[in-house]
Amino acid sequence: MFNKILIANRGEIACRIIKTAKSMGVLTVAIYSDADKNALHVQMADEAIYIGPSPSRESYLLGDNVIAAAIQTGAQAIHPGYGFLSENADFCRSCAKKNITFIGPPVAAIEAMGSKSAAKNIMEKANVPLVPGYHGDDQSSEIIKKAADDMGYPVLLKATAGGGGKGMRQVWSEQEFEEGLAAAKREAMSSFGDDTMLVEKYLTQPRHVEIQVFCDNHNNAVYLFERDCSVQRRHQKVIEEAPAFGMSEELRTQMGKSAIKSAQAIGYQGAGTVEFLLDVNGSFYFMEMNTRLQVEHPVTEMISGQDLVEWQLRVAAGEILPKTQKQLVLNGHAFEARIYAEDPDKDFLPATGKLTLLQTPIESKHVRIDTGVCQGDEVSVYYDPMIAKLIVWDESREKALKRLSKALSEYRINGVTTNIDFLYNLATSQPFMDEEIDTSFIEKNNELIFNNKKQILQNELPIAALYLILTMQHQAQKDALKSSDSNSPWHNANAWRLNEPYIHSFALAHNETEYNVEVEQKKYVSDVYYSLNVNGEQFNCQGSLNNDLLITTINGHRSTTTVSLINNSINLYRENGVFNFIYILPDCGQHDNEDGHGGLTAPMNGTMISVLVKTGDTVSKNQPLVIMEAMKMEHTIKAPSDGIINEIFFQAGDMVDGGAELLAFSEQISVNDEA
Ligand code: ADP
Repeated sequence: MFNKILIANRGEIACRIIKTAKSMGVLTVAIYSDADKNALHVQMADEAIYIGPSPSRESYLLGDNVIAAAIQTGAQAIHPGYGFLSENADFCRSCAKKNITFIGPPVAAIEAMGSKSAAKNIMEKANVPLVPGYHGDDQSSEIIKKAADDMGYPVLLKATAGGGGKGMRQVWSEQEFEEGLAAAKREAMSSFGDDTMLVEKYLTQPRHVEIQVFCDNHNNAVYLFERDCSVQRRHQKVIEEAPAFGMSEELRTQMGKSAIKSAQAIGYQGAGTVEFLLDVNGSFYFMEMNTRLQVEHPVTEMISGQDLVEWQLRVAAGEILPKTQKQLVLNGHAFEARIYAEDPDKDFLPATGKLTLLQTPIESKHVRIDTGVCQGDEVSVYYDPMIAKLIVWDESREKALKRLSKALSEYRINGVTTNIDFLYNLATSQPFMDEEIDTSFIEKNNELIFNNKKQILQNELPIAALYLILTMQHQAQKDALKSSDSNSPWHNANAWRLNEPYIHSFALAHNETEYNVEVEQKKYVSDVYYSLNVNGEQFNCQGSLNNDLLITTINGHRSTTTVSLINNSINLYRENGVFNFIYILPDCGQHDNEDGHGGLTAPMNGTMISVLVKTGDTVSKNQPLVIMEAMKMEHTIKAPSDGIINEIFFQAGDMVDGGAELLAFSEQISVNDEA
């Protein structure tokens, strides 16, 4: 076994590899760019070498610098992780020249899978089933069109150099063919500098089922079952599971054997994944082989009980595979959800920012979190915005899915927009539970899983309101306990504000609508209950709150909800998805210091729409200062008194965190006040 390895990657996968290396007593060297100098992978490794500026093409992608770092530190092998240099044949070759082991397949295997059409030719010869189609050298449009006409529409055009769904076009009829081909070629040329095309039958309801394979240098090969990665957005995986649902043992064996055949056809060594399309009738077709460790490998680890990184190190060090096919046992069911800094409601636009709050579910044999970030870290523009992979395991799909939604409801992130609510909605949607899944799952179930206006509120409004009331009461109680005066009226938990009537009112917003809530606290014998009036509708409520678990009885209907409150945003994680409410502060976020200087803070997460004043302006009480927007509603923040604007911290268009100071303001004390 190696004494020391270098990990040519960053983020969660670098951390993941370091963990296994440590457990095997192998020393680790991390590499880092400017943006990553304090990153978790750097802290975890035994040594770390600075490799260049933040953009990956100036650091993580510079193969020569990476190899120099390995030589400098005496690392005998390089683990490339996934992405970056992991499928770069030139890098693999350079490693060999310097006598450094590349922890991955041989150069020839990487090269063989580099072109989709060359890969198909190899697989065809090895009798691996292919989607019917044409992947020949003659690229005249007549030949390609004839192939499409012969197999019948719809067809899929693919750039042979393609990846990430680029240069791919569906063509639904003969009439659309020419235009489709031209467009696919244009995209392929601009993305890959190569517009060679292949055409294949477009399957309308396929599943993406991939097989994990492993080969050593002693002619042994096994498959570690399959993963279903059908849930995709723009051809990117969102939630993966293992095993694939509804697989017969017979089909599993057939696909496993085909995958091994594919790997052996290219003289494979190490960890690889053979991707297949599985048609509704049970036919499966080779799509491509990924010659590296996959992002979603943890689900395979959970159901097989094997550490795939350990296997990779052993195979690269020349050992035989740790298990034979017969010794591998499939146990239970696992899901992986990719937690991303992105906005699903804005077409999954990547988000950046500081992770001001990062609370994860507790890890156990059921819950695993692979991550490369800590609270306080920055999600930068330079790299993939994945924050973590949340992996859950249980004995059955149903139980594992419950674990997934529970763990998602316990994941708390603030500072950057994430896809957690989207994942929760997806995981709790009926079609996902019912295994009605193919590669168009997200498009088909758009209305269920995006935060759209169609959510029908049942008891969610009074539940959110009750949560707020109980939270405020808890806070009042805590404050009272801190005070030394045992007679303090704060000790009376029945009222959470002194000298205020027992009726309180506030506003909650849900999907562009504002609701006024009036609460009256009542007592019946020894029971405390609340009479809630929400926009004129009356609810009788009782509730108890234990951390983020809220038990409520609303008009006699008792239920349990996991709740999160981040700034002014309340999320209720319900059986049928997540419901978001914004609590609108009655005093709009004003906070003054005792000396009359102070700031005005944002009452919620939102966008600055316009700034109506300038630094140095004298303003009068209640004069509008800035307008913010959250949940498509505008909120005007006004001057709390006459005063002067000392500084303005945001401009129109900026994203603002709830609680952030918007502007510095000094109260103007008039001559009369001073007297
Ligand atoms: P890329 O390398 O660009 O990711 P792939 O060939 O791996 O492209 O295909 C990506 C995704 O496109 C698959 O996971 C599947 O959802 C869809 N796809 C690919 N080929 C077909 C096909 N023949 N019919 C239907 N869907 C397909």
